[in-house]
Amino acid sequence: MLNPVVAGEFCPGDGEYSAMEEYARLLARRLSPGRIRHSLGVAEYSARLAARHGAPVEKARLAGLLHDYARDLPPQELIARAERAGLISHVVEKRVPVLLHGPVGAWLLREEVGIADEEILQAVSRHTTGAPNMSLIDKIIYLADALEPGRQYYGVDDLRRMAEEDLDRALLKTMESGIVYVLRRGQLLHPVTIEARNYLLINR
Ligand code: FE
Ligand code: FE
Repeated sequence: MLNPVVAGEFCPGDGEYSAMEEYARLLARRLSPGRIRHSLGVAEYSARLAARHGAPVEKARLAGLLHDYARDLPPQELIARAERAGLISHVVEKRVPVLLHGPVGAWLLREEVGIADEEILQAVSRHTTGAPNMSLIDKIIYLADALEPGRQYYGVDDLRRMAEEDLDRALLKTMESGIVYVLRRGQLLHPVTIEARNYLLINR
């Protein structure tokens, strides 16, 4: 457990750089080098989107850095931890355990790492499926995860441009491209992703 003061009340200032370094070291114990690179990319992209759209930059950077904290846990362990912590909300999660790395990651960050910032924890928890009524930080982390420079797929540059101008439109289009990807592969779709998309369409 990190010093809870450092971990819970992450505030820009003198301690900022060392705290980020400490978190990066912590990640290195859980994630592969490729995943660390992705996490650093998401951290920087989150900070950039936050600056662009008026969100707290350091909070976004930290949430981005930590968003995949549980990503390398084996499927059975994701299920076991999620069950123990009461995090299973739909049967789809047991069939597609990777969906649980958001909620389980947030849980671990709270219990093991001492992160107490609810906005960061929620953004981590929601980054895999999305959710209705996402906060600005939720949206930024979701988008940065899909758009960081290491991501390469058809249409990603358009989505990046869109994310500069219109966050909600970029979120909708990114979510839709994720839904299409899942459908094309014949995989299960989490109902909350549908709810998230409907919410965006209704509340634009
Ligand atoms: Fe992830
Ligand atoms: Fe990710």
